[in-house]
Amino acid sequence: MLKTINLHKKYNDFTALQSLNLEVEKGEIYALLGQNGAGKSTTINILLGLIKATSGDAFINTISVTDHPQKIKKELAYIPETVLLYPNLTGMENLDFFSKIAGFNYTRAELSAFLRHTGLQEAAHHKTLGGYSKGMRQKVGIAIALAKDAKVLLLDEPTSGLDPIATAEFTEIIRQLGQEGRTILMATHDIFNAVSVASNIGIMKQGQLVQNLQSKAFTAEELQELYLKTI
Ligand code: ATP
Repeated sequence: MLKTINLHKKYNDFTALQSLNLEVEKGEIYALLGQNGAGKSTTINILLGLIKATSGDAFINTISVTDHPQKIKKELAYIPETVLLYPNLTGMENLDFFSKIAGFNYTRAELSAFLRHTGLQEAAHHKTLGGYSKGMRQKVGIAIALAKDAKVLLLDEPTSGLDPIATAEFTEIIRQLGQEGRTILMATHDIFNAVSVASNIGIMKQGQLVQNLQSKAFTAEELQELYLKTI
């Protein structure tokens, strides 16, 4: 569902990505770990078409990011660390607005069902975003991804700044989305969450994928040890 082939990215003389070969199957949750500057966001930005690879290519559902950047946008949803929404609109209004931008015109019942699917409490659907916690905003972000029927979700630091309850809720939603057949790539520093939610884990170092692991083979402590030895 998601594949990068020999992806290279250079910023002048600096190599940010080097021969990155990544593969994520349909319904898989893949966590990308790595130090600050390892190249995780660069990878996500190339997949999103926000920056161009120097060479190599990336494919979403076999569609080339280089050749079909507009088609790719329909397949993907991006959920940044801080989900940017309109603070003066309610959760429901934000979802309606962004769904319409993506070309979908849903009824109130349908919009409400997307929000419920993410675990956002009914009472919050009609409250303005100004009063939402980070976890609640993230749920609206996920609802927007579901409303546009994105096959692949790209998440950047999704658990950063979430309290343990919000992290557990997030983990549950992501697991469920994977079971429903959505493909998830998340860049994270949260080793514990990566082991708990991801089926596969990649460790990046200086723009290269230096480990590609199955998470069920590791406890969080073992992964942390391996991570510290690797980076
Ligand atoms: P973090 O965990 O801090 O988000 P990251 O793994 O996402 O880090 P990237 O943001 O992909 O890392 O950055 C990879 C490298 O590319 C870094 O050394 C960064 O300084 C460099 N870089 C990113 N964007 C640019 C740019 N526009 N010009 C020059 N260098 C850049």
